[in-house]
Amino acid sequence: MKRIPVAVVGAGPAGLAASTELARLGHEVHCYERESVAGGMPRHCGHQGFGLLDLHRPLDGPAYAAELVRRARQAGVTLHTDHTLLSLDGKRMRFCSPEQGAFEIEADRILLALGARETPRPARLIDGIRSPAILTTGALQRFVTLQGRRPFRRAVVIGSDIVGFSAIMTCRHAGIEAAALLEEAPFLRVPSLLARGEEMLLGTHVYAGCDALSIEGERGRIEGVCFHWQGEERFIECDGVVFSGEFTPESALLRQSRLSWDPRNDSLPVTQGFGTPHPGIYTAGNLLRGALAAYKCHAEGIAAARSLHTGINRPPAEAIPIATPTLENLDWISPSLVDPTLPHPYLTRLRFRRPTRGTLLTLLNGREVMRSRINARPWQTVTLPWFGQEVKEGDRLELRFF
Ligand SMILES: Cc1cc2nc3c(=O)[nH]c(=O)nc-3n(C[C@H](O)[C@H](O)[C@H](O)COP(=O)(O)OP(=O)(O)OC[C@H]3O[C@@H](n4cnc5c(N)ncnc54)[C@H](O)[C@@H]3O)c2cc1C
Repeated sequence: MKRIPVAVVGAGPAGLAASTELARLGHEVHCYERESVAGGMPRHCGHQGFGLLDLHRPLDGPAYAAELVRRARQAGVTLHTDHTLLSLDGKRMRFCSPEQGAFEIEADRILLALGARETPRPARLIDGIRSPAILTTGALQRFVTLQGRRPFRRAVVIGSDIVGFSAIMTCRHAGIEAAALLEEAPFLRVPSLLARGEEMLLGTHVYAGCDALSIEGERGRIEGVCFHWQGEERFIECDGVVFSGEFTPESALLRQSRLSWDPRNDSLPVTQGFGTPHPGIYTAGNLLRGALAAYKCHAEGIAAARSLHTGINRPPAEAIPIATPTLENLDWISPSLVDPTLPHPYLTRLRFRRPTRGTLLTLLNGREVMRSRINARPWQTVTLPWFGQEVKEGDRLELRFF
């Protein structure tokens, strides 16, 4: 079996940034990607909104992805495209590629950056017909950006997070009329100013609090979307539906690989140094918890690479889990473990599923060490500062909400 020093799996912004940084730090890095072209999600996003905060110039998604690939190659990273990770057993990875079929590699250090994916229609329990014109934003962008195709003429977008607005921009770019954006929750998942601006500028009506959504039509041809809104039944004509957002980490294969699991994030537990409870296995990017902006995943990739580099000769510490038994509304928490041997730049970041107001206590071994007021919208990340005390192996750390 082939043995390599450092394997990075996933060549999106997090994996490419990590690979480049590791190569610059002197490691021999092999980066594996299941698609035939590296670059991750931004490759499909044919709109601006990338690059400014990490590469210091405004770029569209494909140009941003190409620049990250160029930097990785220039740093000496070996990129293996068309390589899909099938399973992980300790440091032993099983891959599949068109040329080699299934084969195994053993790596001394592994950094996983598999990203996240949108929840498709079947998992969203929306009533109505089946049709090939029901897509996720990612699939719509693949049609439009990579294949230059227009899958429908008039669309309804379901889901109001930032990616739903990206779907509207993609529709506009492709000459598709975005008739409406529907949100089932009673609140929007982006700042309402952005939604209202979009409504005014692009003429797409935004409805929050939609109930009893159903995709209407016959024999796979969509005629419209029916829903209840403010006590009335509404029908919006369209021939395509785009489901946006509700990202879940691309973690199914890791769950089957007998690794430790954090059900709050549906992913591996991770420390502030991007280490997992498994020595030598690190993670970064959207795999940790669902979607954030690309520049944040890029920054996580670099931080994870540095942590892997400095941790090579350090024995793994017993990390302390951050318990959250009373945070029922929690969408994700990252990091979810504290490594007592690493510096503590902040305690942790949290996101909630619904608007959340109250007081959050930080308890160390049952004693209150910090009290924070929370007033968070579902699109806001709450960052808790470090409470200023050392923690050691065996301590108990809990966040309690009231
Ligand atoms: C529609 C849309 C619009 C967006 N617009 C913006 C924007 O304007 N600005 C912005 O900053 N961000 C935007 N984002 C978010 C941004 O693209 C992501 O946050 C970022 O790409 C995440 O980086 P990542 O490296 O964690 O994951 P990804 O970019 O998803 O990369 C993960 C990589 O891992 C590979 N992979 C997965 N599983 C395997 C496996 N088993 N074996 C091998 N390889 C595997 C995938 O093929 C992929 O290439 C948008 C996202 C979407 C969906």
